[in-house]
Parts: sequence; structure tokens; C-alpha cells
Amino acid sequence: MRKLALHWKILLGMLLGVAFGFLMVSFSGGKDIVEDWIKPFGTIFINALKLIAVPLILGSLITGVSDLKDISKLSKMGGKTVLIYLITTVVAVTLGLILVNVVRPGESISEETRTELVANYSQSTEKYKEEAANQKESGPLRALEDLVPDNIIGASGENKNMLQVIFFAIFFGVGLILLPEDKAKPVKDFFSSFNEVILKMIDLIMLAAPYGVFALLAALIVESPSADLFKALGWYALCVVSGLFLMIVFYTTLVMIFTGKNPKEFLNGISPAQLLAFSTSSSAATLPVTMERVHEHLGVDEEVSSFVLPIGATINMDGTSLYQAVAAVFIAQAFGMDLSLGVQLGIVATATLASIGSAAVPGAGMVMLVIVLAQAGIPEAGLALIFAVDRPLDMCRTVVNVTGDATVSLLVAKSENKLSEPKVKDWDDNYKG
Ligand code: ASP
Repeated sequence: MRKLALHWKILLGMLLGVAFGFLMVSFSGGKDIVEDWIKPFGTIFINALKLIAVPLILGSLITGVSDLKDISKLSKMGGKTVLIYLITTVVAVTLGLILVNVVRPGESISEETRTELVANYSQSTEKYKEEAANQKESGPLRALEDLVPDNIIGASGENKNMLQVIFFAIFFGVGLILLPEDKAKPVKDFFSSFNEVILKMIDLIMLAAPYGVFALLAALIVESPSADLFKALGWYALCVVSGLFLMIVFYTTLVMIFTGKNPKEFLNGISPAQLLAFSTSSSAATLPVTMERVHEHLGVDEEVSSFVLPIGATINMDGTSLYQAVAAVFIAQAFGMDLSLGVQLGIVATATLASIGSAAVPGAGMVMLVIVLAQAGIPEAGLALIFAVDRPLDMCRTVVNVTGDATVSLLVAKSENKLSEPKVKDWDDNYKG
């Protein structure tokens, strides 16, 4: 067991978790046992990952930015990063729209199933509508306003405000660049060692990953709705999942063309982050591991990974945008609406923006979907149609979100000449012993 590579251990943990979950569902009282005695370990694991996210962003971004020594380099890299992120998101939405228009999964939903689903789930979806309404009430410059925190402790206290922490770290790094070297050095040295400590802490947390995902998946199984619903929504789910799969193919191709890394090397390097994304449904919780894998196992210089990845975790959600496009059109089809090309192009724009605005936490994509629906004039009640399968799809789209960020970090690193041979060749080395 000690010899097994980390991603196999995590995978084993996931499979055993699923099997254990099913076993416990078949016992009376099994569900309570899982909720009381197993689930807390999953929660502890996620908390530990989230705990590390803010110090990691601060440490690595401050070190990364101050190493740039030149502000124009920073803005060049920033511009490039945001542009590539936007392009991959638009590709994802477009792919989603093509798939949903070809497969037309909404047409397989009978009127009876639709009424039943809406009746069963409309209460549960109220929460999403309320959250989305709060988002909508804000003015056009709200996103910009939200970027600048009035208090760094407050901003770091809420994992939702990651962009504010990023803003502070970049601002601080810029301050350091502008300081004379003798004055800046002690602070830079401090943050550089601080960063090393955090990376070691991530290694320690990852030792617990197989057990953490076991607990998370066992809990998920005992809490999930009945399998019948999956059948009714099968075509829709298949549409989303095949789109997500094609996105992974797209990324591996991009990485191969631009960096020369073959798909196996890329996926081996990033797989522990993908498995965690799947188990936690949260790009934010996965961020520490994504950063560590990309830097140490794929050879992206920290200057790039520390900048590109935290921003990506917050604004680049290709999986989410693809899902939003498919879900919106699926709901329209199920309600018998025919969406014109103009409306569908509108969906490209709103799904892109909505995915940027989605928080990197479970279920956030569905909250923002409400806005996409409203813009396209599709009934919000349709949320109830997709509610039952949202969690498994959330798990899958989070994998794509994280893989997309990793891909862009490799592309940016290559273009900046900051891609080298990985530090850890045997990609499991630093977790052993
Ligand atoms: N769970 C996703 C993430 O964290 C967001 C979403 O699509 O709900 O990346």
C-alpha cells in the first residue's frame, strides 16, 4: 500500500467509499452511522484544504509577484492569462451548445416527468433562486467594487472572497518590487520560507487524502436521491459528461501542441488534483493541491503557477460554463421552447460571465445558472428538472475547471519561458515516508 502511487490510493479510497456508502444504505440505521461517524472526517479533510488556501495564495503570490522585478512583466502575464482563460471558456460554452442542440436531451422528458420533477424539487431550488437574486441586485460595477477589500482579515476569513485576497497579495508584491532590494529582502525571504512551510503542510494533508475522499464519497452516497431520477435525466447528464470529457481531450491536445508534454505525463501530474476536485466539488478546496502538482510535478515556475492558478480557480470555470449552456437549453427544450440563434449567442455571453462569477464551491454553478435562465427568458422553475443530478455533474465539472486552470498555467509558463523539467520526476516521491 505504501508503494502505491498517490492517485491510485485516492482512487481506491473513492471506490471503497462508494461501496461502503451503498452497503450502509442497505442497513437500517446505516445512514446515521455514516453521517455521525464517517462524514466528519470528510469535513475535516476539506476544512484542512480550505485552511491552507488563503496562506498559500498570500505566500506564493507575494513571492511570485515580487520575483518578477518588473511591473510591466506582471501586466503582460496578467493580460495573457485572462485572455486565454476567456478563450477556453468560450470554447467550452460553444461545445456545450453544439452538443445539446445535436442530442436534444430535453425532448426525451415527457410532460408527466417534467411536472413530477418540478413538483418534487421546486422547494429545494428556492434557495438557489434567492442567492441568485442577491447577485442580480448589484450594479454593473459591483464586481470591480468587490475586488478591493476594506479589510484583509475579513477578506481572508471568507473563502468566497478569494479575489480580494489575490488583489491584496498582488498589491503587496507590487509594493515589494518598488522597494529598494536591501529593504525588500527580509520580507521576501520571510514569504519564501513561509511558502515552503505551506507546501510541506499540503504534503501532510495529502497523506490523509485517500481516507478523506473515502469519507466524502460514503457520505455522498447515503445522502443522494434515488437512482430512478438518473434514468429520466440520463441524456442530459450524458450530454454534460461527454462535453466535459471532450474538454479534457481539448486540454491534453493544447498541452501537447504547445508544451510537448504527452497526455499521460500531463494527466499523471495533475490527477491527484482532479480526483480531489471530483471528491470535494470545489476548485477552491482543490487549489492547494493543484498549485503543488503543477509546480512540482509539471515543472511550471512558481512565478507563473502562483499567479495563474488562484485567479483561475476563481474566474476560469470551463466545466461550469459548459454545464450552464447545456442545462439552459435542456430546460428550454423540456418546456417545449425553441431558442433562436440570437438567444443561444446570448447564452454564450451570459454563461461565460456567470461562470466567472461563480464561487469555487459546491453548487455555485447552479446558483449562477438562474441568471443565465433569466437572461434567455427560460422558466426558472426548470431548475427543479436538473436538481437531482446536479451534485454528480458538479463533481465532474469541477474536475474540468481544475484541469482547465492547470492547462492555462502550462501554456502561460511556456510562453514566458518558465516551464522546466519537473522537480519531482517520480510524481509520488514527496508523499512517501
Ligand atoms: N463546484 C464548482 C467549482 O468549485 C463550481 C460549480 O460549477 O458549481 O469549481
